[in-house]
Amino acid sequence: MLITHAEAILLQVPFDHKSPQPALYGRSWKTFDTLLLRLETDGGIVGWGEAFVFHAGAVTKSALEHLVIPNMLGRDPSQIVPLMNDLQRRLHLYGRSGPVACALSAVDIALWDINGKMAGMPLFRMLGGSTRTHLPAYASILRTAEASQATKSVELALKRGFRSIKLHEIDLDPINAAREAAGYEIPLMLDLDAPMSANESIEFCRHLAELELFWLEEPVWPPENYDGIADVRTNGGIPIAAGENAGSAMDFKHLIAAEAIDFAQPSVGKVGGITEMRKVMALASAYNVTVHPHSPYLGPALLATLHVNAAAGEDMLVEHLLIEPEATLYGAAVRPFNGSVAVPQGPGLGLEPDMAVIERFAV
Ligand SMILES: [Mg+2]
Repeated sequence: MLITHAEAILLQVPFDHKSPQPALYGRSWKTFDTLLLRLETDGGIVGWGEAFVFHAGAVTKSALEHLVIPNMLGRDPSQIVPLMNDLQRRLHLYGRSGPVACALSAVDIALWDINGKMAGMPLFRMLGGSTRTHLPAYASILRTAEASQATKSVELALKRGFRSIKLHEIDLDPINAAREAAGYEIPLMLDLDAPMSANESIEFCRHLAELELFWLEEPVWPPENYDGIADVRTNGGIPIAAGENAGSAMDFKHLIAAEAIDFAQPSVGKVGGITEMRKVMALASAYNVTVHPHSPYLGPALLATLHVNAAAGEDMLVEHLLIEPEATLYGAAVRPFNGSVAVPQGPGLGLEPDMAVIERFAV
């Protein structure tokens, strides 16, 4: 079997955040963008992948179209590891993280989808099997920057049945309001998105001491300042999570060796797909670091995360963005209910995207 055709499809789906439109790194955030990859084979099997993009959709699409796809047409999709190794080596000089790495992640996910479909097996079975049909999810709330809004968002998450919640606030008022609204029984996580120096983070942690945070995520700028993160872990008194910006298992090796993290957060649409994610998981497990993947995805990368989590043999939380997209690719199939998400049971990724939604939101 050979890969005969590959298409990169950028989607922009408007979403409701149930609050004023959030900002993302200085830009207002009105649509949730994602980049799909559709791989066609001469055997008639089609596989789907997804790359992380946020606002970099056009750049990552270009990387996929101009660098990655020309290197994969005519190749054998059943050779996942050799093919991915070859693509990684051919393209490493264009970046081991960022748009090229995200584009490669989409390829790996699509190859696993094709192989699962060829075997007639859901991916979690290809990855070792699982007895779990549902996985625990946490509500990941975008930054609101206001106490009253943080309260409302936490109340909404609780009403939807989530039993753990993550904030993206950097001001103390909304953080304190969220803890008050959640109560102390609910694990509360805080993602800072890498804003501060290590010393500033340690100082900030003093203000968070009473909140009993389950984890503090990416406290330090730049995100690859692993010694700085380790400093916060040692002196801040709060368990630390990081890794969504790590581009490969080798990056995670350095992150873990620096004793910087309690929780590793590989992102399947950034780190190199399922193949690289499983390397990260093996590494983390050997060093007693718990994995809770980063998964702000709407498409195949979300499904890939579910399969990898299901097959992990331990309880990893699924990150669910608490937003209301105008449409979803899989209907209600992977919408969390009572704080858990169903693992798709069909072959490959287990679900096919709704082509009407793709046609409507493709740009
Ligand atoms: Mg994060």
